[in-house]
Amino acid sequence: METKIKELKSRIKGRIIMPKDKDYNEARKIYNAMIDKHPGIILKCKDKEDVIQAVNFGRENALEASIRSGGHSGAGLALCEDGLVIDLSEMKDIQIDPKTSTAVIFPGNTLADIDRATHEHGLALPSGIIGSTGIGGITLGGGIGYLSRKGGLTVDNLLEAEVVLASGELVTASEKENPDLFWALRGGGGNFGVVVSFTFKLIQIKNVYAGPMFWPLEDAAAVMKFYDETMQKASNDLYGFFAFLIVPPADPFPKELQNKNVCGVVWNYTGPMEKAEEVFEPIRKFGPPILDFVSEIPMPVLNGMFDALYPSGLQWYWKAHIIKELTDESISVNMEYGSKIPTMHSTTHLYPINGAVHEISPGDTAWINREARYSQVIVGVSPEASDAERITTWCKDYYNALKPYAAGGAYVNFMMEEEEGRVKDSYGINFKRLGQIKKKYDPENFFHINQNIKPCD
Ligand SMILES: Cc1cc2nc3c(=O)[nH]c(=O)nc-3n(C[C@H](O)[C@H](O)[C@H](O)COP(=O)(O)OP(=O)(O)OC[C@H]3O[C@@H](n4cnc5c(N)ncnc54)[C@H](O)[C@@H]3O)c2cc1C
Repeated sequence: METKIKELKSRIKGRIIMPKDKDYNEARKIYNAMIDKHPGIILKCKDKEDVIQAVNFGRENALEASIRSGGHSGAGLALCEDGLVIDLSEMKDIQIDPKTSTAVIFPGNTLADIDRATHEHGLALPSGIIGSTGIGGITLGGGIGYLSRKGGLTVDNLLEAEVVLASGELVTASEKENPDLFWALRGGGGNFGVVVSFTFKLIQIKNVYAGPMFWPLEDAAAVMKFYDETMQKASNDLYGFFAFLIVPPADPFPKELQNKNVCGVVWNYTGPMEKAEEVFEPIRKFGPPILDFVSEIPMPVLNGMFDALYPSGLQWYWKAHIIKELTDESISVNMEYGSKIPTMHSTTHLYPINGAVHEISPGDTAWINREARYSQVIVGVSPEASDAERITTWCKDYYNALKPYAAGGAYVNFMMEEEEGRVKDSYGINFKRLGQIKKKYDPENFFHINQNIKPCD
């Protein structure tokens, strides 16, 4: 193997990092500190030719291979044990064309990188809520966040992708070229190949009227109902995700609220700014909130608002549901577990997946949940490894209690590694077609360190 690795080194521009190397432990670190995998080879690719070399090397030597972009997968799917990590984190180009409002983005970029680059042109890509998340995994799984109701999922804005297949061949996927692959990439995760560039359309966004509002925990049932009704009636310009949380013990939160278990909504209004106060009048009247940090801010301020609270290196465990409606019974379950949040960083979020997301049919992309209202994630987080069991138990109990009121399946980007049985449910009627496309593009299931879709007829 040593000779083969030497040869590989001579063919690539990037670096190979092995367990004996000084920077090995740094290179195998990912966002979730609960994951401790030891890959045999980490190949830090510089460009698509390096990716082709990596895929060919992995296949020819029968190595397990994982794909890493931002390393944010809660399940730790960026890494493998013993095998080869195809690490794209140094592939960082972003080319924006303001005339066509499009961007070509390489997979090593984080959402913060993209936000900075697009905001300069008064543009934005609908994506997630934490800046350090990688564009690779979030896009291929779907991509939900502050602009979902206005501009759809991240995948709904994908125009084209360049993909290195398991055979080592580089292909383009778009509506015109390999449309079956393009369909599968929009929600099917990292099952079909390594995406080496994404072309997106962007939407015009500069400033937004946004931020968090909190209400007392005792009012949470009424707040949830009010929030749910608001999200059903609102124009696509209004977005808000609901949360149970513990107020962080730090500025700018008022002392009397710090460490208190509350409920809240993080709003994002993207309509005309002169209308914002009017839109928020009924929201502010309801309650009224015990904290109101909603004001006009640049989009990147909203996007970066929780980045410092959730740095890399915390323990993470999460479970997820797709929610079709909020009933009195499901609200009671949320009340019960939302008032037992185990640590300050732990939370549950209900992300709306209506508005523009519903304007596309469930069969038009692999991402299927276009008739549901929310993607709910239950997240146990702590800086302390000794909390791992406690946060995991809370997540599992909360998840199990909500199960009777959930649609079945989940957003694959919010699943842990042991949840493979749920993959089929998560894709519903799209699952069979995904298996057939997998057979065409990756018949040997070379790319299986993911929420795996097996090749089928
Ligand atoms: C703190 C935090 C906040 C989050 N917030 C959101 C949110 O607001 N909205 C949301 O939708 N999701 C969110 N997520 C979930 C996120 O979408 C997934 O964790 C996603 O996998 C992260 O992408 P990544 O590139 O960082 O992941 P990585 O861990 O690098 O990769 C995960 C998997 O994605 C696939 N993959 C990644 N890149 C490629 C590629 N270039 N080609 C082929 N396959 C690839 C591979 O299967 C890989 O195993 C969040 C996650 C965290 C930890």
